[in-house]
Amino acid sequence: MTNNEKEKAQYDVIIVGGGPAGLCAAMYSGRGMLDALLIERGLPGGELLNTELIEDYPGFESILGRDLAARMTSHTEKFGASIVTDTVDAIEKMDDDWFEVRTQLGKVYRAPTVLLTAGGTPNKLGVPGEVEYAGRGVSYCAVCDGAFFKDETIAVVGGGDAAVEEAGYLTRYAEKVFLVHRRDEFRASKLLQERAFKNPKIAVVRSQVVEEIGGGPSGATSLKLKDTKTGETSELAVTGVFIFIGFTPNSGLIKGHFDHDPSGYIITDWNMMTSIPGLFAAGDLRVQLTRQITTAVGDATTAAIAIEKYLAERQEAAKEAVGSA
Ligand SMILES: Cc1cc2nc3c(=O)[nH]c(=O)nc-3n(C[C@H](O)[C@H](O)[C@H](O)COP(=O)(O)OP(=O)(O)OC[C@H]3O[C@@H](n4cnc5c(N)ncnc54)[C@H](O)[C@@H]3O)c2cc1C
Repeated sequence: MTNNEKEKAQYDVIIVGGGPAGLCAAMYSGRGMLDALLIERGLPGGELLNTELIEDYPGFESILGRDLAARMTSHTEKFGASIVTDTVDAIEKMDDDWFEVRTQLGKVYRAPTVLLTAGGTPNKLGVPGEVEYAGRGVSYCAVCDGAFFKDETIAVVGGGDAAVEEAGYLTRYAEKVFLVHRRDEFRASKLLQERAFKNPKIAVVRSQVVEEIGGGPSGATSLKLKDTKTGETSELAVTGVFIFIGFTPNSGLIKGHFDHDPSGYIITDWNMMTSIPGLFAAGDLRVQLTRQITTAVGDATTAAIAIEKYLAERQEAAKEAVGSA
């Protein structure tokens, strides 16, 4: 149930983003009897709604992304968290130590704590075929989808650490991996490059830009390339195309300074609190080794419990201040 009608303006915690992290945190907060509001711009589920099959979430050997999203949403609603459909424009800590969360529908919600779980977006090539074959050959996640390409010939696009490392990872499954980069030199660390270039299953394709991803009813079947020096075009026969050309975390909603890494991923302490006291972050937009459903819900669990403690301590401090006045 989304209940825009029932919403009020003040909560214990406002959760921004209804992917696995946001839904899990709202479930814990509701169960912990906190007055929690979850704001999601679309249907709850986040990237689960862009994922065909999930085979690495414990308890579900194989489940459709949309089915897991529906199960997580109804589980969250069971414990009473309010979910509203709206897009958050800004999160700001005010002088009175409360946060204001402003939305596209012109609402201003207030709470002493905010949990940001707005995820991020893998950068896209923007070529024909990329959208058509997304989930049918085109992927942005090796850990998630690698196992679907056993003994096949695939391509990895990119030249940074992620591309080179994931190309190596994908050779566990694929027969052959073309590592396609638009430049001569790779940005990835020398160690990763050495390891990848020595791997007999990896063929390095330099100075080639992807012009198009071709395919048919079964999914992607080819990659059309253009040589950046000669302008010549060529085609690689591949059934999978893994694109690693960066990921943009949705951390720009936070007004004011907060600690982040050079790519905008949010740095937190081990309670998931950011450098702004009372502002927590969980899931894909946080600095961490890997980005999976399990890590998103793990972060969210820690954040929800840490928020309960933070609120209790805040209340205690307020009582003491009144007592000593
Ligand atoms: C194609 C694909 C396949 C994947 N397959 C797997 C897999 O098989 N197994 C696995 O473990 N992981 C998989 N992953 C990774 C996994 O989906 C993510 O790690 C996980 O969804 C992260 O959860 P999250 O809640 O942090 O972010 P997200 O799932 O990205 O959710 C963020 C939510 O925030 C909302 N939002 C963003 N901005 C705003 C705003 N301004 N206002 C309101 N709402 C906002 C978004 O609409 C979204 O619903 C896959 C990812 C992709 C892209």
